[in-house]
Amino acid sequence: MYYNLIILMLFLIGSSCNNESKGPAVSIEESYSMEDFKKVPKIDTHAHITSDGKTFIEEARANNFRLMDMIVDVPQFPSIPRQLEICLKHREEDPDVFAYTTAFTLENWDQPDWGDKIIENLQKDFDNGALGVKVWKNIGMTYKDQKGNQIMLDDPKFDPIFQFIKDQHKVLLSHAGEPKNCWLPLDEMTVNNDRNYFTEYPEFHMYLHPELPSYEDQIQARDNMLSKNTALTFIGVHLASLEWSVDEIARFLDRFPNASVDLTERIPHLQYQSLENRNRVREFFIKYQDRISYGTDFEQEENHDPAALIEKMNARWLRDWKYFNTEEIMTVPELDTPFQGLGLPKTAADKIYRINAEKIFKDAWESPKITG
Ligand SMILES: [Zn+2]
Repeated sequence: MYYNLIILMLFLIGSSCNNESKGPAVSIEESYSMEDFKKVPKIDTHAHITSDGKTFIEEARANNFRLMDMIVDVPQFPSIPRQLEICLKHREEDPDVFAYTTAFTLENWDQPDWGDKIIENLQKDFDNGALGVKVWKNIGMTYKDQKGNQIMLDDPKFDPIFQFIKDQHKVLLSHAGEPKNCWLPLDEMTVNNDRNYFTEYPEFHMYLHPELPSYEDQIQARDNMLSKNTALTFIGVHLASLEWSVDEIARFLDRFPNASVDLTERIPHLQYQSLENRNRVREFFIKYQDRISYGTDFEQEENHDPAALIEKMNARWLRDWKYFNTEEIMTVPELDTPFQGLGLPKTAADKIYRINAEKIFKDAWESPKITG
């Protein structure tokens, strides 16, 4: 035992000498610059490719991004079987960039064997390479049982499914409810993108639907579900719908140690909080740097315009990079007031942009093929 201790001490002395011989150690507070964007390896953990085209994948590869694609039970998307077909093809052709998670529908919910059938399908999807399962806001907002009751995420009928996902060492991703803005009138919303989205999709603008479950009901159902499934690896996408307060997100992460959040489509809500108290937002990122992953929600649909998609992706990627990595004063289309970037240290940026996703989705992506 003492021998081991001596070896350890010698090792520590040795490694500190090594650092000295390489010159001054790099400060851990150093941040990436805009020039670093392309060369730093990154993961976009929230992509929706619903067509065979390669624009998204090629542009991701060119910018050192790997992708986690999410199949979702969204009416505007192709059917889940069709999305699976598309994912299998991309995975086969581009396993260095493309990995995916699957989903299920609540059709036939009232049939006694609904859950068994879902588990059967999930088993097939996992065998084919799906790494997780995404549940969408239509649970809690759209689907009703035959008695007309809203189906919520903590319904016991989901229990065996979530248990199965856990037993298979897969990940549950949940888009529960909506941003809190959804329950406010348009002119009281904090960010322009919510205002635009809920103008376009009034069926999801809950301020107009007081008969449906409240914001608090949605959050409560999700948290009840998590309390029953504490060992499940869980990602609350869209900042777990707690985007309006970094303190609330922190409380959520403290309460559920196997949960993490993705930043997808909710970065402007953080920028809004930066306006009031940039330090608080920055401290949140420093403290929870192991529990936050970057994502965009970019979609590549059947009839997309490749040039427009590439332009949109690059503009947003660079805006986000600027916010997290630099201390520049900047503006974004989602806010009317300029704010300052967070200038996160490289170590935190690497976790948010890559390492956390690599830990959650182990061995998800293959090494690039060496050509030439
Ligand atoms: Zn999405």
